[in-house]
Order: sequence, then structure tokens, then C-alpha cells
Amino acid sequence: MSETEIKLMIPGPVSVSPEVLQAMSQHVVPHYGDNFIHFYNETLDLLKLVFKTNQNMFLYVGSGTAGIDACVGSSLAAGDKIIVGSNGFFGDRLIWIAEGNGLIVVPVKVNLGSVLDPADFLQAVQDHPDAKAIMAVHLETSTTIINPIKEIASIAREYDMLMIVDAISSIGGVPLKFDEWGLDLVATSINKCLGAPPGLSPIAVSQRAWKSINASPPKNHGWYSDLRTWNKYATEWADWHPTPVTMPINNIAALNVALKQLMEEGIENRFKRYQNLAIQLRQGLNLIGMPPMTPDHLINPVLTAAYGPEGVPYKPDRSISC
Ligand SMILES: *Cc1c(COP(=O)(O)O)cnc(C)c1O
Repeated sequence: MSETEIKLMIPGPVSVSPEVLQAMSQHVVPHYGDNFIHFYNETLDLLKLVFKTNQNMFLYVGSGTAGIDACVGSSLAAGDKIIVGSNGFFGDRLIWIAEGNGLIVVPVKVNLGSVLDPADFLQAVQDHPDAKAIMAVHLETSTTIINPIKEIASIAREYDMLMIVDAISSIGGVPLKFDEWGLDLVATSINKCLGAPPGLSPIAVSQRAWKSINASPPKNHGWYSDLRTWNKYATEWADWHPTPVTMPINNIAALNVALKQLMEEGIENRFKRYQNLAIQLRQGLNLIGMPPMTPDHLINPVLTAAYGPEGVPYKPDRSISC
């Protein structure tokens, strides 16, 4: 099998197109100067179309989790209270990240395979009006459940709390509207629905989030992972060196091409194409005795989990407790 024929049938990273691969193999160029500024800003503008936002965006260097960690640590101080939803492996990781940043966590949990319930968040904010933020996963990859982020965010808005979202496996394949839904900090990764190689975590930050990030006392979140550092370079050195550190140029070049391919197809068209493929996949799985894990009304356009055929043993549980 030639490399171009490799088809990764895993939640991520995903196989990238030949054009994206081609972009990666270009010369290494500086992460500053006119040429860089042009394609860096173009890439950010394309990302804003996908996030549906006019707010600041950053290309944070690292995996998606690095982006989430920077969002949490930059906007909240040790001792702050946060309400964290979890219905699976990555929700539990958000709890772990919050605790790792010294936050007091109010967990909002439902059973594996269930959807997070906005009513539970309403109860949690009423029980904990001193909480500063709500955090949840958009697409819980471990169970393929898509959580009602729009509804949960409206509770955050009503109670004046920040809304932080792990949209690592959803953005580019599942609708998310940063501005319209009133989200505050959202991080994703470029190697899932955005169709680029791993290495960058695009982050969107609202004006409300900036108020929190800039509030005294400072958050003591190091230097690299403090979003204030990234913003300082993005503003003060905007015209020649917009990031605090050396950027993985080739990954940005690859992302740029992947985003242009998404725009060429049309975001809505891509959503529809994935949805249609998921419907066909689910039909096929049912036919071979591997029913999809979620009922039809909880169809996930980008990720399908299925039960194994009868008589075939499942893999052991590999979850990590936190
Ligand atoms: C893949 C995934 C992660 C982990 O992303 P990394 O890029 O490996 O840090 C976190 N959350 C969700 C929902 C994911 O699907």
C-alpha cells in the first residue's frame, strides 16, 4: 500500500490530503517577516470562518490539550471554582486539567453514553453561584456523544460565568458558533476535523475572557502558556513577528491548505457530506450485526462507535482514573 492510500479509521489524527502533505514538504522559512505575516493572518482569518467568530484567535503550539490547559490556566486563578461537565474520558480529563491548575471543581456527570443535561448545569450554577466558569467537551470522543454546548453556554451567559469548551474533535465537522453561542474560550486541534497534521491548537478568546485573563491578581500561569504572552506579541509585534515563539511553519502551511480545501467544499456542504456518510456507515454496521452505540437521533456525523458482533470479545477497559 502506498502512503497516499493510507486511510486512518481512528478518531484522530486523520489522514490528510495529498495537497496538505505537499504543503508540509515546502522549505522551512522564518516565522516572521512579510511573507509569514501574510499567510499567518490568512490562516487565522480562515480559522475565524470555521469558529464563526470575529474575536481574537491564536495558533497555540502544541496538541489540543495544550490549548485547553492554556485557556484554563490563563483565565482562572488557583482557588477559583469551576463547574465541569463529564460524560466520558475527555470530560474526566477536563476535571483533571482544572484540578491541575489548582481550581476547585464542581463535577456535573452523567452516565457514559448519555448526553450532558443543561438542567444539571442550571442546578450547579444555582448551588455554586461563586463559580467563575463552566467547562465541557463539545464532542466526547470516547463515546461519540455530542453535548448541547449552546444550551449550556446560555446558562453561563445568564449567570455571568466563562464558558470554556474542548472542541478538539468537533470543529470543522460539527457546527459550532463561537460568537452566536456566547462562548469564551474554545480550543481545538488541527489533526481531527480540520484535516491537517498534529502540532497546533487553534484557540478563540472572547472579550469577556480577556477581562478575566487580565484581572488582578495575575494568574501565575508561567510564561509560555499564559495567553497574555501570546496576545502581547499578536498586538505589539503584529506587523512582523506575531507570536512569542518559533512556529512550526510547515504545519501552518499544511493547515492553510487544509482550511482552503474546507472553504472550497463549503463548510455546510462538508457537514452534510459527513452526515450522509455517517448515515450510510450506520446502515452498513446494522447490516453486519454491529449496531451503532448511539440511537439515530444522536447520530454523530464525524465519529461512529459500534458494538462488536455477538460472540466477539471486547478489549479490556483502558480508562485512566483521575
Ligand atoms: C483527541 C481529543 C483530545 C486530546 O487531544 P490532543 O491533541 O491529543 O491533546 C482531547 N479532547 C477530545 C474531545 C479529543 O477528541
